[in-house]
Amino acid sequence: MCGIVGIISGSEVSNEIYESLLCLQHRGQDSAGIGTYSGKFHIKKGHGLVREVFGRKDIGYLAGNMGIGQVRYPTIGGASIDDLQPFRVSSPYGIMMAHNGNIFNFWQLKEELFQKDLRMVNSNNDLEVILNVFAYELSRFKLDDFFDSICEAVKSVHTRVKGAYSVVGMIAGKGLIAFRDPHGIRPLVWGRRTVNGKTEHIFSSENTMFAITGFDFYRDVAPGELVFVDLNGEVHTRRITEKEFHPCIFEYVYFARVDATLNGVNVYKSRLYMGENLGKKINRLFPNLEIDLVVPAPQSATTAALSCAHELGVRYSESIVKNVYIGRSFIMPGQEQRRRANTYKLSAIEVEIRGKNILVVDDSIVRGTVSKHIVQMLRQNGAKKVYFASASPALKYPDLYGIDLPTQDEFVAYNRTEEQICEYIGADLLVYQDLEDLIEAVKRKNDHKFSKPHCAYFNGDYPTNDVTEEVLDEIEAIRKKERQEDKLKKQLETN
Ligand code: AMP
Repeated sequence: MCGIVGIISGSEVSNEIYESLLCLQHRGQDSAGIGTYSGKFHIKKGHGLVREVFGRKDIGYLAGNMGIGQVRYPTIGGASIDDLQPFRVSSPYGIMMAHNGNIFNFWQLKEELFQKDLRMVNSNNDLEVILNVFAYELSRFKLDDFFDSICEAVKSVHTRVKGAYSVVGMIAGKGLIAFRDPHGIRPLVWGRRTVNGKTEHIFSSENTMFAITGFDFYRDVAPGELVFVDLNGEVHTRRITEKEFHPCIFEYVYFARVDATLNGVNVYKSRLYMGENLGKKINRLFPNLEIDLVVPAPQSATTAALSCAHELGVRYSESIVKNVYIGRSFIMPGQEQRRRANTYKLSAIEVEIRGKNILVVDDSIVRGTVSKHIVQMLRQNGAKKVYFASASPALKYPDLYGIDLPTQDEFVAYNRTEEQICEYIGADLLVYQDLEDLIEAVKRKNDHKFSKPHCAYFNGDYPTNDVTEEVLDEIEAIRKKERQEDKLKKQLETN
């Protein structure tokens, strides 16, 4: 997963891009990059958190009134410096781009670009193929109207590039572009503000930075839409490809920050409704279950746990504590390392737990490592019974659109019944949210424009209709190989 931002304004933008990336940090901690334009491109990117990558001097060096930025959590591509965003090409014009998403025909396109279009993709980052397809197509379309030309280039991207992507980019001497894949799987919001009578624009994965940067929410970039703001501040928009809108539901379950509103849905509210629906299911199936405390698995489950407790009429207690200064255990290779990281990361408040029946609410169960550890920890701290509930259904299918989920056989729900999962994590009871209830929670408020969100990791129904068994097998093989290489590399680093 990644977070992206693009700003065009009447003054220097690098500081605001930096501030925006800080607000998107939860979407990627692997690397960060900023590119700006002041008659020429400037770029700085590196590994680590935003505050580790950029110093005061960098912000000064990144000159210009137009810029883009990205924080990265890789789904394709390794950790090499060659794989970090933004990317740029010198022709036509000079183009720089950053994206959030995942392209699953990356390897074919990389080869096709080289053999047919005579363009070299140097990295293993999937954005570089989007950039090269766009650049190649733009160099072929020299229409009278520049906007018509970039519309044609985006149309070719929509046709050739398979997967999900939200893109921000800059074209030298022309302006800022923002576009979304035809199904709008990855989010992209648009904000505006007026300074000295002129309208300035921001495009970002989330609106989490709008308040601090003084932008007002304007609207979401529509699925398949291209927005171009030229250097005079003139705005051009066109819906290039019209397909059904399928925004990713995992943004609401786990990824987006609670204060974000994406695709017309407020993340906090949707999580409250998820907890409410989960509580209703527990009441319905187990009306006599004795629960003393509802405890969230910190931290993305806190909102759902709060409303679940309210629904059940049970006290809410934050008696599992997370040390936020340890990196995400999820990205550590190998079960053993992940288990050890969880031990350092989580602790329990014994005086709250001892002698009680606890219902733990987590947002999702992926490999089952966290849930297993939590159940064990609560028992060690004297819990009488430990029930476990997930605010989303069982994860069973690989994601091809930018959520970093494991290979299929790593899912704890792969080839296991709910009873077997419950046994694996060691709980006294396990309850998963039903998919219809999750969708209802996200869609309850009627100010959105989609009928069916993308939920393929729960039900295997891939919205782009181009995911065959061969594609899935190929992706699984690539991911397994990449994970193995990553694991070996990390082992070498620690030896
Ligand atoms: P696991 O031990 O693999 O079952 O991890 C479950 C935890 O991982 C849950 O508490 C989620 O909050 C978190 N999680 C879910 N999806 C992701 C993801 N794509 N990246 C990182 N963490 C995740």
